[in-house]
Amino acid sequence: MTDVDQGARAAHPEAGGLDRSATETGREPAATRMGRTAPTSATSSPVPARSWWGAQAWLPDGPTVDVRLVADADGRLIDVQTGVQPVEGDTVLPGMVLPGFADAHSHAFHRALRGRTHDGGGTFWTWREAMYDVAARLDPESYRALATAVFAESALAGVTCVGEFHYLHHGPGGRPYGDPNAMGEALREAAAAAGIRVTLLDTAYLSGGLDADGHQPLNEVQRRFADADVDAWAQRVDALRPDANTRIGVAVHSVRAVPAEHLARIGLVAAGRPLHVHLSEQPAENEACQAVYGCSPTKLLDRNGLLGPMTTAVHATHLSGSDVATLGARGVTVCLCPSTEADLADGLPPTGPLLAAGVRLCAGSDQHVTADLLAEARGIEMHERLRTGRRGTVSPPALVEALSPAGHASLGWPEAGRLEVGAPADLVAVDDYSARTAGTDPAQIVMTAGTADVRTVVVGGRTVVSGGQHVLGDIGEMLNRSLKPLR
Ligand SMILES: [Zn+2]
Repeated sequence: MTDVDQGARAAHPEAGGLDRSATETGREPAATRMGRTAPTSATSSPVPARSWWGAQAWLPDGPTVDVRLVADADGRLIDVQTGVQPVEGDTVLPGMVLPGFADAHSHAFHRALRGRTHDGGGTFWTWREAMYDVAARLDPESYRALATAVFAESALAGVTCVGEFHYLHHGPGGRPYGDPNAMGEALREAAAAAGIRVTLLDTAYLSGGLDADGHQPLNEVQRRFADADVDAWAQRVDALRPDANTRIGVAVHSVRAVPAEHLARIGLVAAGRPLHVHLSEQPAENEACQAVYGCSPTKLLDRNGLLGPMTTAVHATHLSGSDVATLGARGVTVCLCPSTEADLADGLPPTGPLLAAGVRLCAGSDQHVTADLLAEARGIEMHERLRTGRRGTVSPPALVEALSPAGHASLGWPEAGRLEVGAPADLVAVDDYSARTAGTDPAQIVMTAGTADVRTVVVGGRTVVSGGQHVLGDIGEMLNRSLKPLR
């Protein structure tokens, strides 16, 4: 007897020929399974199903019909069969089964600003003041609670791995906590509790900003982001250890927040690990960099040896043709965050030229202004349409590539993000039969589906989302509870 996921549509002709009554009455509703008896951690849920069947799955060669996926006890795919029917013990997944999505650029605490920065217009810089207000209120306990809810919300969007660009390190006034990595550890625990993988991108933040006069002193809130010096930062990073669910990368906040004399050292600490950096998000950054260093931020990073295949440049909005060529020549990945770039009026990145130069693209939610990775991915193509007046620069398969394998590679999980033997069993089943997706060619589902269509999410063989519900229960309630003390 096959097991039917909560989200599998009984009436769907492709859902294994199951009848409606079996699906609707044969299973306990998701809401009843959760609530008061919810486990405290998604990774403490019962032993997961080890085999799945989907009428459609996105294999490395693209959409494929009638696919069985089998994982071993370590949550790794050991068999991928095509053109077969489900067998006893398989969990039948609804719709299109995609590899898990990587949210390659997240600041979990920015979620506290959603829906609260839209009055009175404002700019990137006034938004930043509001962000500093929230940062000032967080401690390891409240951050763990908030990030657990935020990462659970990400899981509902199909995110199975998050790159947390982590710069809120220390206590008020910049005083280190007893464990100087207490905030980073809170993020690690939050991801594990929410059932998703995390790459902790520990961020160097050493100056209060850059203007034509040079680097500025840190303000009161920024002191919480900064280590005493680059050695203290390197020491703190060295104390972070990876685990089965966590990998450690590093980040340069931006050329605004790290004086050039420290960049080469950070490159050495990064060696062999992912290195992320905010790049040219606003014209003011380029102008200050030109005034102080006589070159663009891209050129400054390149001169200091920071650009290479392990580097991800986030935003890369305001680039010269020469910057684009440099990023391509160094094999850099660019992470685009379309909802944030629109929300903060950043501008439109030169996506087509970046691809032509050889850059790999991935997608990020950044400030969590929305939680919809599928929308972030298609936003890459939609923004390029707005910039150029042309359609089709980034094809639907290229958007799936950005969502899954490219995003995972950017975060130091190169084995993840594809449905093939040896990869982790990270699966996202997307309803292709909903009001939003009805009639969609399966090969174009990334252009129509959104978070509401994500029915099942499996991370390393373990079910984290079923029937569109997170195993931790009511995530809206969790978010409301964790946001309250920050107001
Ligand atoms: Zn960011």
